[in-house]
Amino acid sequence: MQTKAYGAQKAKAPLAPIAIERREPGPKDVALDILFCGVCHSDLHTARGEWPGILYPCVPGHEIIGRVTKTGKDVKSFKEGDIVGVGCMVESCRTCEPCQHDLEQYCEGPNGFTGTYNGAAKGGLPNTFGGYSKHIVVDEHFVLRIRHKEHQFAAAAPLLCAGITTWSPLKHWKIGPGQKVGIIGIGGLGHMGVKLAHALGAHVVAFTTSPSKKSAALELGADEVVVSKNRDEMNAHAGSFNFILDTVAASHDLDAFTRLLKRDGALVLVGVPEDPHPSPSVGTLIFGRKSIGGSLIGGIAETQEMLDFCAERDITCDIEMIAMADIDNAYDRQLKSDVKYRFVIDMATLT
Ligand code: NAP
Ligand code: ZN
Ligand code: ZN
Repeated sequence: MQTKAYGAQKAKAPLAPIAIERREPGPKDVALDILFCGVCHSDLHTARGEWPGILYPCVPGHEIIGRVTKTGKDVKSFKEGDIVGVGCMVESCRTCEPCQHDLEQYCEGPNGFTGTYNGAAKGGLPNTFGGYSKHIVVDEHFVLRIRHKEHQFAAAAPLLCAGITTWSPLKHWKIGPGQKVGIIGIGGLGHMGVKLAHALGAHVVAFTTSPSKKSAALELGADEVVVSKNRDEMNAHAGSFNFILDTVAASHDLDAFTRLLKRDGALVLVGVPEDPHPSPSVGTLIFGRKSIGGSLIGGIAETQEMLDFCAERDITCDIEMIAMADIDNAYDRQLKSDVKYRFVIDMATLT
């Protein structure tokens, strides 16, 4: 079936209305009307062709909240009318070792996981198209239950990527009380990193390049805020962190942060800049047995765990709602760090 969407026809083109095809729901599929979709920096990297291998036309969007309109005959967990979420993945092989261990994001099947957009689509359709659209059809395994209250639905949308991408490394590195945790970059991912690390009981330090975000970062739950361009403020934290999560979407100096780690501390990267970071100093790592790691979104079971954790504690994202037609302006503002902290598209505006 055809559905209205918004997409880019090529790397440098602005996004514009486009009609796309969705498959008819199969026995295990859930069809939903999309209510809200968050605007991740990955959408911008993709739509504007900043990463290699982008397929056009490209319809971004992987922070989706919707209402179920139809379910296939074998669908057990959802029914018409349910409020559900769809994140960054819509398929994986389900049989490889990572898939068997609820780590679909690291699927080792022939094609890895299928991204909600820019992936290989089923049923003879071209590449997958994401949530900047009215309607989507997804296998129930990749559909999440939303337990937030109705007035929180829009603000829950970015949990589907920004939430899980920060939650997964915090859990993997066993962050909790007694630990000092840094979050670099207070954007969509970073502001959720601050909220979640705080909720897990850590002492949280927010690193920002935007002095204007200082008081706002404290309100998010940071215990301290450091303007990372200020050398004295950085030096005051030398050798003191157990864990630092780097959400920055641009290439930057990592040594400034590995220096702040304690012995055995880890700097974990989740930001994926267009250009590589300068090679880090080996000495800073060796003298202190420090590590630099990376982390990719999170598995489906873990995403449900994070959603339920947030629903129980009334944790949502801080959002600014936009109309679909304002998306390119929103991307330009995101590049200037001019959003507190996530744009969410009200899909009722896609008419
Ligand atoms: P975002 O909302 O644009 O936030 C990025 C933040 O980084 C900005 O708000 C800014 O924070 C800081 N920043 C930007 N440019 C900077 C620079 N030149 N130097 C230092 N800091 C800078 O982006 P996002 O949606 O959170 O995404 C962040 C990155 O994570 C993107 O690269 C995205 O593709 C990637 N991502 C990865 C995964 C994964 O699974 N690993 C998942 C989702 C997204 P301040 O103003 O506070 O400095
Ligand atoms: Zn994302
Ligand atoms: Zn797999």
